[in-house]
Amino acid sequence: MERILIGDLENHIGEHISLSGWVDVRRDQGKMVFFDFRDRSGLIQGVVLPGSATMETAKNIRSEYVVRVEGVVNKRPEKNVQMDKQNGELELDIQGIEILNPSDAMPFTISEDTSGIDETVRAHYRYLDLRSKRMQKNMRVRSEFIRRCREYLFSKDFTEIETPLLTESTPEGSRDFVVPSRLQPGKFYALPQSPQQYKQLLMTAGFERYFQIARCIRDEDLRADRGFEFSQIDLEMSFVGMEEVMDLTEEMILTAVEAMGYSVKEKPFPRISYKDAMEKYGADKFDLRTPEEKENGTLAYAWVVNFPFFEKTKEGTWTFTHNPFSMPVSEHLDWLMKGERIGDILTTQYDLICNGFESGGGSIRAHTPDILEAVYKIMGFTQEERVERIGHMLQAFRFGTPPHGGIALGIERNIMNLTGETMLREVQAFPMTRGGKTAVMDAPKPLEDAQLEELHLSINERDASQD
Ligand code: ASP
Repeated sequence: MERILIGDLENHIGEHISLSGWVDVRRDQGKMVFFDFRDRSGLIQGVVLPGSATMETAKNIRSEYVVRVEGVVNKRPEKNVQMDKQNGELELDIQGIEILNPSDAMPFTISEDTSGIDETVRAHYRYLDLRSKRMQKNMRVRSEFIRRCREYLFSKDFTEIETPLLTESTPEGSRDFVVPSRLQPGKFYALPQSPQQYKQLLMTAGFERYFQIARCIRDEDLRADRGFEFSQIDLEMSFVGMEEVMDLTEEMILTAVEAMGYSVKEKPFPRISYKDAMEKYGADKFDLRTPEEKENGTLAYAWVVNFPFFEKTKEGTWTFTHNPFSMPVSEHLDWLMKGERIGDILTTQYDLICNGFESGGGSIRAHTPDILEAVYKIMGFTQEERVERIGHMLQAFRFGTPPHGGIALGIERNIMNLTGETMLREVQAFPMTRGGKTAVMDAPKPLEDAQLEELHLSINERDASQD
């Protein structure tokens, strides 16, 4: 018999149907056994009535067994209707249950909120944790947000292109994760902190409008809203200025979140300079919502612009505040080229904030070699170091690279805002624990001696035993 989804049962009242799913809960009342069955589309209550041939099987079934159930979809008598529940006016009169796979006793009850359960237990059994209502919702919100952004970008003539994961270090201000090369002893790849350089090279390559759901990997201290791995909606456009990138991003977000039923506090998104934000809020991330708007899930976006391009390091040299590949604002290009008034130079960076989080950021880029060189000169790179670090970009910029700019939106932070979660790990399927251990599987792990040898590595025993 064809499988009917639980969410579709209301269209099958009075019919003998078959459904497949999990036993959410079982309530044994002696003469009768009640179940809640669950599949991806929701929950339905079922009952095994006294004298039923399936009573013995029913008595042996526990929570989270996977079953195929046959029965008749009935309307509940008026007094048993639960209007606040999905399928609260229906009940399945169970005629047969086939156990497709039993389940061990659960390490925690997934029909309740699992957020209070110990983090390492949740991580170890993440595949069970993900069955919970809240995690199912979070993953679906994430999927829908990405889908809607993707659809929007396709409608605007963007091409989705993947860039390499094994690559050379790109500066995003974090430590790199590195991968040893087997074929080239003593050499390492870096995993990308972002696709920044490749997406700019795709502009050189003439794609004009690129996007990617990009994995970014940064070796940073872990925090509630920061993990080693995260994803970005990463895009880049040719022949644009700040306005076009900001307008497109704004329209993409509004198209996605409004279709998902969220309301946005202010449109177009307000814009504020970095200087004014610091004076008014003491930070470049701030929350514009009233307490009432926090309650009802309103989203308050704003753009922060006019950031300083450079800041002083502890050693007294200059470094970039956001992105070394950015263009300064046009009024300050001359200072950049001459290396004058460095602390006053403003960049074309635009940061998107939402409900107190930075939810994205980007800029118009330097697209000629002399401008990019000027940035690296200010940061104290010698001619040789410049060639070594960005020689490939300087070269590409000599082959007709169009003016371009882009942005990247942090997917997790956006989903945290949409779901009201405050921890990054609540919006990733298999997040790491705070200690940097992978979910379910036990990485990082030592390598076998043979693998180390193949990779031309030896481990300093003293460091290894400090674990
Ligand atoms: N690559 C930047 C980042 O990861 C975003 C951008 O400027 O497009 O923050």
